[in-house]
Amino acid sequence: MNIKEICKDAERIGIGGHIRPDGDCVGSCLGLSLYLKKLFPAKEVKVFLEKPSDIFSCIKGFRDIVILGKEVPKEAEFDVFFAVDCGKERLGSAERLFDKAKTTVNIDHHVSNADGTGMYNYIYPEASSASELVYELVEEDMLDADIAAALYTGIVHDTGVFRYSCTSPKTMQAAAKLISYGFDFSKLIEETFYEKTYVQNQVMGRALLESMLIMDGKCIVSYINRKTMEFYQVTGADLEGIVSQLKLTKGAECAVFMYEIRTMQYKVSLRSGEKVNVAKIAELFGGGGHVRAAGCTMNGTFYDVINNLSVHIEEQLEEAGA
Ligand code: AMP
Ligand code: MN
Ligand code: MN
Repeated sequence: MNIKEICKDAERIGIGGHIRPDGDCVGSCLGLSLYLKKLFPAKEVKVFLEKPSDIFSCIKGFRDIVILGKEVPKEAEFDVFFAVDCGKERLGSAERLFDKAKTTVNIDHHVSNADGTGMYNYIYPEASSASELVYELVEEDMLDADIAAALYTGIVHDTGVFRYSCTSPKTMQAAAKLISYGFDFSKLIEETFYEKTYVQNQVMGRALLESMLIMDGKCIVSYINRKTMEFYQVTGADLEGIVSQLKLTKGAECAVFMYEIRTMQYKVSLRSGEKVNVAKIAELFGGGGHVRAAGCTMNGTFYDVINNLSVHIEEQLEEAGA
């Protein structure tokens, strides 16, 4: 796929990522927009996202992001609209902008979006991140420290700092090239990935303290309800990282973390080791993601959700002979 060719006659270009944007979503969208702005200074390039965490404010272009609410933004038709790190149905209120655009492009690495939802699709589930895919599509002589820092952020976040199995030699080659542009990658990793506010750490502590081991310790589950979130004054973005921490528990093949988004409705995050395909489970409940990291939204109490999920986790563990 050739982005330059697709965009060459466009006057207005839009870019959107998934709801509850994570590091890869923000990094890939901003990296792509910085590239397009550099390639075509005369064109209008706009990024639409739900409000991302301020930890990403160090990425160039962060302040220019159009923050999505429930309403579709009042925007004239785009000539080209990109959905990055998701299919069009997870663009939130930007989905309408995608639908109305003359040309649509989908860049994604979610196995649950294997067919793509654009007129042009660049979908590789084996890629570590959407940022790695944007890196592949960017012309090398256009790269600079700002674009590199954006894409590096995305790769770092979706690979858990190059730890997860989605990390490939290609990922490391991309990262090696990116750091050669000279930005402070240690600071970037520290400040966007590891650093937590005091209250974020407290909530993580609560979730760990109240976690439960089920299936003979092969699965660990925990949750945070609305009352607790209100008490600590935290939002979903503050709970990022809890599920990965749970997954570090020795013996746990699978980790489930959920937080209440409204009464009796939970945003569920699933992580797994080698034996459970969590994308398959999340898809059963209308969500999706990757084999080792996936998510969905489910209704009921914490126990209802766990009961519904555990049947499928247990089934897969048994099949794998665990
Ligand atoms: P999370 O647990 O929200 O961090 O999500 C883990 C992975 O699954 C990320 O790559 C998400 O983009 C993806 N994911 C989460 N929820 C969904 C969903 N409802 N549909 C498709 N992919 C999802
Ligand atoms: Mn993402
Ligand atoms: Mn991603």
